[in-house]
Amino acid sequence: MRFPVKKFFSYYKPYLPLFLSVLACSFIVSAVTLLFPLLVQHITKDVLKGDLSSALSSVYKIGGLMLVLVAIQNIGNYFVDYKGHEVGARMERDLRSELFVHMQTLSFGFYDKEKTGRLMSRITNDLLLLSELYHHGPEDYVKYLVRFLGAFFILFSINANLTIAVFCFFPFLGAFSLYFNKKLNHALRNNKERIGDVNAQVEDSLLGIRVVQSFANEHVEIEKFERTNNHFLDSRKKTYKAEAYFYNAVESIIQLISITVIIFGSASIVRATLHIADLITFLLYISFMIEPIQRLTHMSSQLQEGITGFQRFMELKNVKPAVANKPNALTLQEVQGEIEFRQVSFRYDAHLQPVLENVSLRVQPGEYVALVGPSGGGKTTLCSLIPRFYDVTNGDVLLDGINVRDLELRSLRNHIGVVQQDIFLFAGTVMDNIRYGNPDADEAAIIEAAKRANAHDFIMNLSNGYHTEIGQRGVKLSGGQKQRLSIARVFLKNPPVLILDEATSALDNESESLVQESLDLLAKGRTTIVIAHRLSTIRNAERIIVLTEGGIMEQGTHEVLLARNGVYAHLYAKQFELQV
Ligand code: ADP
Ligand code: MG
Repeated sequence: MRFPVKKFFSYYKPYLPLFLSVLACSFIVSAVTLLFPLLVQHITKDVLKGDLSSALSSVYKIGGLMLVLVAIQNIGNYFVDYKGHEVGARMERDLRSELFVHMQTLSFGFYDKEKTGRLMSRITNDLLLLSELYHHGPEDYVKYLVRFLGAFFILFSINANLTIAVFCFFPFLGAFSLYFNKKLNHALRNNKERIGDVNAQVEDSLLGIRVVQSFANEHVEIEKFERTNNHFLDSRKKTYKAEAYFYNAVESIIQLISITVIIFGSASIVRATLHIADLITFLLYISFMIEPIQRLTHMSSQLQEGITGFQRFMELKNVKPAVANKPNALTLQEVQGEIEFRQVSFRYDAHLQPVLENVSLRVQPGEYVALVGPSGGGKTTLCSLIPRFYDVTNGDVLLDGINVRDLELRSLRNHIGVVQQDIFLFAGTVMDNIRYGNPDADEAAIIEAAKRANAHDFIMNLSNGYHTEIGQRGVKLSGGQKQRLSIARVFLKNPPVLILDEATSALDNESESLVQESLDLLAKGRTTIVIAHRLSTIRNAERIIVLTEGGIMEQGTHEVLLARNGVYAHLYAKQFELQV
């Protein structure tokens, strides 16, 4: 991917005035820092002249000036540190929000493929690195450029020969730095991968802690973790070794340069071609020139990491949602609830087998239809095409005679309620979770919905009633209780079309009857497609449709299908035998 330069810089735009003042400040601070050795030179020359009284007054004057400069330097640095980081943090916030908003639009198909952990690291770590580059990058370039060039010109004007002698070391220092830069970067990248492994394993183990403990497999997890944890240690040892070697080698080169300056400088003093104050100045400026070269390493890796982070950010930003609104999408108002599948074919991915082929089916407004068939026959898939969780590969799905692709997504999904076997509840209170069905609903409506869902009584028995925190994903509730909350959510939403996908399959008999009761009430007056595993629950359906991998095999009432003695009759007989 070519680096999107324009896009990269566009994020500065809202903060340009602030950021430019940070840069200006960084420039001033560096320029002021450059003055100190010059002032030392001045003092030394005055003192060495021998006229003590004039030397003293000059020392006081210059000392006073130094105090003023120190004040400017530190106030300036405070501004650069504080506001510079703030600009970086603000830009990071903007990028993160943009990414989060974008992620909300991506479709089921995208999340089927992507690992959650990887997406999380993009929205946190990657953007943190990027924010560092956004502010430190330009700040450092200004700072080190000013110092390097300033020191060079000052030294050159004091003594050209000695400056050139010092310069002879720089190609070596530069080459050495670049070589180690590569080595260090490699080590740091390795570090990151290893800490990523540690994170991934902690996440996995903690999410599955209940499974781990129920299998009493703690020791397996611990062994696995220690291996990963030790790999991380090994990789860090390598990094520290490289770092220690690098920094101390650079330090040696600096000392070598200093010694060279001292020997050549002293010889020049003896030959009276250099003043002793100039030698001191030289020694003071050397670090100004070397520091930028030393920092090249750090700055180039920061640049590299930031650029990679931005590329990964853009990669994700450029993913187009597979299911999206058409430009002139219709907004649904009143919905009767007629659903029609016309010659629908569907596959999850181009390289996968089709799940549905040429399925046609029409459900009347208000009809109660059951979908049955072997597991993996495509029942869930068929239903997920109505709210456009996925788009059909061929054919059309229509709601009230309008192609669902022509409808505005939000209004389409607002008219369809789904109750599934897997229930997802958010961390928060019972009230919050029911309100999810309609964020505008008042408390009375929420309680009414809970009553209809057979949930009110158990909620009132919770320690804090409707304001009880349910724990992450509702771990503090039983399966039947969670399901009744999810039903209350749909009561509150009040959609004209309802999909019940094995909503009672995971429940015991007692909770099943409570849930079934509330589901029957929920289905009243709505077009309902119920997917049932236990055939006993759908005997009363107006129409039963048998969907297998070969398509719709039979349809009719329970009695008609039994009399046919086909797929349904077989399924029914099998379950009946099992239950006896
Ligand atoms: P049913 O609900 O009738 O048990 P599904 O609609 O869940 O069947 O599954 C139909 C087929 O599609 C199965 O072979 C299943 O493996 C496959 N399938 C379901 N969901 C996905 C998915 N997200 N990605 C790829 N294949 C899937
Ligand atoms: Mg299913």
